[in-house]
Amino acid sequence: MDTYMAKDLPFPESPVVPQMMDGSKVIQFRCRKGIACWNACCSNIDISLTPYDILRLKRRLGLASAAFLRQYAVPYEMEKDGIAGVKLKPAEGGSACQFMTPEGCSVYEDRPTACRYYPVALLSMRRQDEYVDRDAYALVREEHCLGHNEPRNLAIDEYRAEQGLQEYDEQGRGWRQLVLKKKSSGPTVGKPSVRSRQLFFMTCYDIDTFRAFVDSGPFKDLYDVPEEEIKAMLGDSLESEQALMQFGFRFLRQVLFGEETIPMHKEAAEKRREQVREKTAQAEREAAGKLARAEDRDEGFDD
Ligand code: SF4
Ligand code: SF4
Repeated sequence: MDTYMAKDLPFPESPVVPQMMDGSKVIQFRCRKGIACWNACCSNIDISLTPYDILRLKRRLGLASAAFLRQYAVPYEMEKDGIAGVKLKPAEGGSACQFMTPEGCSVYEDRPTACRYYPVALLSMRRQDEYVDRDAYALVREEHCLGHNEPRNLAIDEYRAEQGLQEYDEQGRGWRQLVLKKKSSGPTVGKPSVRSRQLFFMTCYDIDTFRAFVDSGPFKDLYDVPEEEIKAMLGDSLESEQALMQFGFRFLRQVLFGEETIPMHKEAAEKRREQVREKTAQAEREAAGKLARAEDRDEGFDD
């Protein structure tokens, strides 16, 4: 059970039928209690979590995001480009989901996006230089899943509505666009720095730490966010946390891609730019030094 990005598909041996479908495509499927394969899908999991999945689950469990991540998640790198991702951590020593019970999912109302989509796979794509992603779908047919034999036909869009996916997709869109943009910035930009990876991880997945960061002196010294907007993001309600998460995506677009939509205090911004310029120059000096030393060594071998 996983949500696939377009670039991951299709593999020859993948259970994903390599055919792209739009939301009007009718599928035959029903999952119901009492079906012979009940819980088979939750017994062997590979589930990527979106920031909104984590937000909903940590609220449900009454945990801070860092505690949730420690207990229920494992980090991974999406492809080889250094973008941080998070997956659900299976029960110790096995492959079953920690939330699986004989009656079914114990966090059903807050289950992750990938669990809601299954057996449909969401394919997010974007054209170069666009933030607008286009959704297409594929069908995952795994042998153990008998839901495909159930006599019920419905359009993918109806299935998405039934599974509460409109809200999840809407809340997750900013993150998916960031991931796609980062993926498509490709090898010319190179691997993101450790700092930018850490920033991406904190902002996307550890929302309580991000909240403390937004509420900190250094943040307020640099960014000129209206007090009212800050206040609306720092509360405990679901709406506040949604607003904070969406602000986080905006913040990352600014920090990682230079799309300045969050006003900055003039002097602090200039100082920050100066620091960045100095750091870049320093990195370039170091790289040039390394290159010169390597060339000296090579010449030595020729002698
Ligand atoms: S979160 Fe729920 S639906 Fe998803 S794998 Fe776990 S038990 Fe199954
Ligand atoms: S029908 Fe498919 S989704 Fe439902 S319990 Fe069986 S394996 Fe899981």
